[in-house]
Amino acid sequence: MIEFQQVGKSFGGQAVVEDVSLTIAPGEFVVLIGRSGSGKSTTLKMVNRLVEHDRGRILFAGQEIRSFQPEDLRRRMGYAIQSTGLFPHWTVERNIACVPTLLQWPAARIRDRVTELLELLQLPPDLYRGRYPNALSGGQQQRVGVARALAADPDVLLMDEPFGALDPITRAALQTELARIHRLSGKTIVLVTHDIDEALRLGSRIVLLDHGRIVQVGTPRQLLAEPANDFVRDFIGRSD
Ligand code: ATP
Ligand code: MG
Repeated sequence: MIEFQQVGKSFGGQAVVEDVSLTIAPGEFVVLIGRSGSGKSTTLKMVNRLVEHDRGRILFAGQEIRSFQPEDLRRRMGYAIQSTGLFPHWTVERNIACVPTLLQWPAARIRDRVTELLELLQLPPDLYRGRYPNALSGGQQQRVGVARALAADPDVLLMDEPFGALDPITRAALQTELARIHRLSGKTIVLVTHDIDEALRLGSRIVLLDHGRIVQVGTPRQLLAEPANDFVRDFIGRSD
């Protein structure tokens, strides 16, 4: 589904991602983890061309991502981030409907889809569809951000700390929802987090990055049982 072949990226002559090779199969739930500044967000943004890679190749569905229009790529890959990016002067409904509207879906289909997504994310549609983001709690805003990313039924969901800055209970509830969405839809999900517990809980595979390079890739069980080195061992042992 997504393949990185020796991918690198520099900013101002400084390499922030280097020699990343990784194949993500359809339906996988891959978690990118690492310390602040290790290159997680940059790696994720190269997939939907919010950042252009400098070296190597990135393939989506077997084709170089540079052969897609960035807009086309972004319609096929939902993107959810910590600061949700909801439009404050748009209702919940209009925010979620953003991509389907661009795709010119019929109004009735958009409305049904918004209802379905609000139900999926446990926001009763009658209560929430007409609200503005400032009338939602942080966790509810993040749910709407996830609903928006899912709206046009993309093949891939890219998520950059979508549950950051939430209390542990809300965070756990959203993790459960995301695991359920993954189980039900079989979507390919790439999630960035710095939370090792979240990674171990959600990932079918975990990719640990340090200074822009992959230190280890493996299932949660593999990382726990066979850490490649002390860095991995320390990272897993530390819960913050
Ligand atoms: P965090 O956990 O803090 O979000 P991260 O692993 O997501 O960190 P990135 O955002 O990928 O890290 O950044 C990796 C490195 O690239 C950092 O040193 C950052 O300062 C640098 N960087 C990222 N974007 C840019 C940019 N647009 N211009 C210059 N440097 C950048
Ligand atoms: Mg980041």
